[in-house]
Amino acid sequence: MKFQPEKRPIHGESLDSLQARFKEIGEPAFRAKQVMEWLYKKRARSWSDMSNLPRPLRERLDQEFDLSPAKRVLAKESADETEKLLLEMGDKALVETVVIRAPQVGVGQRDSRKTICISTQVGCAYGCKFCASGLAGWKRDLSVGEIVAQLIHVCHQEDATTTRAKEEIASFDNIVVMGMGEPMANYDNLLPALRILNADWGLNFGARRITVSTSGVVPKILALAKEPEQFRLAVSLHGATNAVREQIMPINKRYPLEALLPAIQAYAQTKGRMITLEFILIDSINDSFEQADALSQIARDLNAHVNLIPYNTVPGLEWKRPSITRQESFYQRLKRSGASATIRREKGHDIAAACGQLKLKTEPAA
Ligand code: SAH
Ligand code: SF4
Repeated sequence: MKFQPEKRPIHGESLDSLQARFKEIGEPAFRAKQVMEWLYKKRARSWSDMSNLPRPLRERLDQEFDLSPAKRVLAKESADETEKLLLEMGDKALVETVVIRAPQVGVGQRDSRKTICISTQVGCAYGCKFCASGLAGWKRDLSVGEIVAQLIHVCHQEDATTTRAKEEIASFDNIVVMGMGEPMANYDNLLPALRILNADWGLNFGARRITVSTSGVVPKILALAKEPEQFRLAVSLHGATNAVREQIMPINKRYPLEALLPAIQAYAQTKGRMITLEFILIDSINDSFEQADALSQIARDLNAHVNLIPYNTVPGLEWKRPSITRQESFYQRLKRSGASATIRREKGHDIAAACGQLKLKTEPAA
């Protein structure tokens, strides 16, 4: 399934591609730079805001490009610093973007450090048994512009509600690609989108503050390792042996641990950085001491950090989170064996958990 919008989203263009287009229509290259500045630095909301562009050019751009491929239909804020934006795309597909604020001493809630969790697909084809995003299957990939537009929405919202300068809003936070969908299954749109977020003419987010989470698409982990940018990698492990992992993650049949672990190692080595292993704790599935010991071995071998996430129940699914005591013993067992690990228990606060809850909705219910 492919969505072909009438106009191309302007946020899907790179500086190079826009310059090439401008050349074709006889506009000087510096105009493309001006457009990018309006989009990402000054965050114009309409073509008419772009006051240093000649009017005929603005009109032409308006005919050819869509300035807002996504429309905000709902913003839901919860008491635990998690805020969800529901965006509607041109074909009415709904996409959630999550903003998670980490409270900081001495600054107001609005100005606190935040992590923005973005989606890359509508639905997901990977069908992990515990996950809400995969429940209804895959609908379509998001385009480059639709991925970037999620950040633009968050920036617009921040511009309107915080006291921080525009450049600071886009230079202070983290982006995690942990929303709906498997980012590596939409690699061809993911990478150009991350490059726009990273570019100095774009949002200027440091690559080290962008984390891509994958359920373990081995060839794409290896491909991302070869790219020059230092994007961070998080791998959803959730099972420390093939037997347990394949019970809950169908992808393990295709890329079992013998294939996945060397790919993670290759990534860590090429980038010279620690990888994160996400491990959701699910009652009676993967919370035994045998799993803790196997996980510890994997983490130590890879010099990876383990992020333990108590499972968030999904209506309609049978899985449960283990008791606090059991979570704690699992965590202590890991720590005692020398693995680097953290566990977060606040509801909705953990980033992967908050993002992992994103569900394909068919209508913007309140
Ligand atoms: N497809 C990618 C990224 C999106 S999922 C991936 O699988 O990594 C983001 C994270 O949320 C993953 O670690 C996923 O396993 C986790 N997750 C999914 N459902 C969850 C739930 N109900 N509770 C806690 N974490 C969940
Ligand atoms: Fe897809 Fe990730 Fe959910 Fe698995 S955990 S179904 S890969 S979104």
